Amino acid sequence: MKAKVIYDAKKCIGAGNCIISEYFLLPPPGKKAVLKGAKIVNKEVCLEKDFTSEELERLQEAGERCPVNAIGIRNLETNEELVTMNVKQDGLVEIKAEYDDDKEFVLDPKGYFLIRVDHHKKLIEVGFCGKRNVVEAKIFGTTPRDIYNTIAREKLIERPEHYAYLGRELQKAYIALKLGLKYVQDDELDFNLKA
Ligand code: SF4
Repeated sequence: MKAKVIYDAKKCIGAGNCIISEYFLLPPPGKKAVLKGAKIVNKEVCLEKDFTSEELERLQEAGERCPVNAIGIRNLETNEELVTMNVKQDGLVEIKAEYDDDKEFVLDPKGYFLIRVDHHKKLIEVGFCGKRNVVEAKIFGTTPRDIYNTIAREKLIERPEHYAYLGRELQKAYIALKLGLKYVQDDELDFNLKA
């Protein structure tokens, strides 16, 4: 299938997600990706050729995975834009964020978490309470991502806003751990308060 791949190296942050396609080369740390066989046409880095449907599928996935929209793909047979480099705002609705904790808070039926930072062991510890004041599991780790993915895998949360809450608290705990600050669950971080 004839298609055109456009690559904007200026946008590239070197995340490397595009190497799912054999047409993109893995950037060394701190470098930008390379689109194999590309030429510069009208100041655009592009690759225009007949791709197999599998190659095009992988290129499309590369474009969709690129976090900065550095890759655009157009099917030259149908003129369809398969991956856009522009953020579209068709039918955009603006919604003001609001939340009233007193009226809207709903306890997760699965339970709740007690979070603390162990500066000695350099760990974040999360106690899961399925019942009030009963810690049924302790999840510990060094990064929010390890911990929330473990919690998701163990199916310890039901409500989506509880995931958001956990992510926020874990990020605070992580910053406190890295900077040697005191961490208090549900309080704002005080950058002047050492642990
Ligand atoms: S996915 Fe996008 S940002 Fe990441 S290396 Fe590839 S082109 Fe660059």
